[in-house]
Amino acid sequence: MSVIVVGSILSSVAGNSVSGAVELVADGFLFTEGPVWLKAGVLVFSDIPADAIYRADKSVYRKPSGKSNGLTMDNEGRLIACEHWNRRVTREEPDGTVTVLAERYEGKRLNSPNDVVVRSDGAVFFTDPPYGLEGRPAELDFAGVYLLRPDGTLRLLIADFVKPNGLALSPDEKTLYIADTDGGHIRAFMVASDGTISDGRLFCNLPRPDGMKVDVAGNVWCTAEDGVRVMQPDGSLLTTVRCPQAPANCAFGDQDFKTLYVTARTAVYRVRTTVAGISP
Ligand code: MG
Repeated sequence: MSVIVVGSILSSVAGNSVSGAVELVADGFLFTEGPVWLKAGVLVFSDIPADAIYRADKSVYRKPSGKSNGLTMDNEGRLIACEHWNRRVTREEPDGTVTVLAERYEGKRLNSPNDVVVRSDGAVFFTDPPYGLEGRPAELDFAGVYLLRPDGTLRLLIADFVKPNGLALSPDEKTLYIADTDGGHIRAFMVASDGTISDGRLFCNLPRPDGMKVDVAGNVWCTAEDGVRVMQPDGSLLTTVRCPQAPANCAFGDQDFKTLYVTARTAVYRVRTTVAGISP
């Protein structure tokens, strides 16, 4: 594959988080989101307006996709999708059929699930801002963050975010980070073994945060208006990785999990990292 060098590292202190330049992987999409490196060693990602999930070689993985947004993998390697237009969270079974995991809270339809992370015990955490309503009326008067327990029960964890968006767990799974795009910050919560959260605190401020992932050292990689920001576990900014287009989400991949794939508007980019990411 030919490689085009397109980005640069804006700043870096306390050692570089990335090595080498930002490279273009693929372009020509409408709005890319939800990258995930599958167990099969393939990157897939959503193109929301195209109503499709693509592979990096531009072949179709699934279409229609319910205008999927954030994607991840569960512990059995099954694809979990936030179907932003279909207003539900689903799981793809090994035979290709799709199982609905969550679509209603207390009888009311979800807004439009946006991003998702799965804990090692199978608990699913997801955010539900209204971005995917596209003019349809909301049934809920808040934008929640939810926990779907392994037994299938859905619990509202918190409802005071303006636009809850990307979320990620720390390496020990004891901290849940949640971005608030309109709030311009990430909050960190303690996570109990039953999945409930407490002791929310401001982790960092950043402009229009969206998708995020965590590396094995506990650094938080979050897309923002000006690039992918890398925060240390104490919330201090380590580096901003600038991309040619505004990034919306990111995911670690390749065999060593030391490549960060970034979905940014019409394209997907990648950059090598010095620390490995956590595999979903
Ligand atoms: Mg998002």
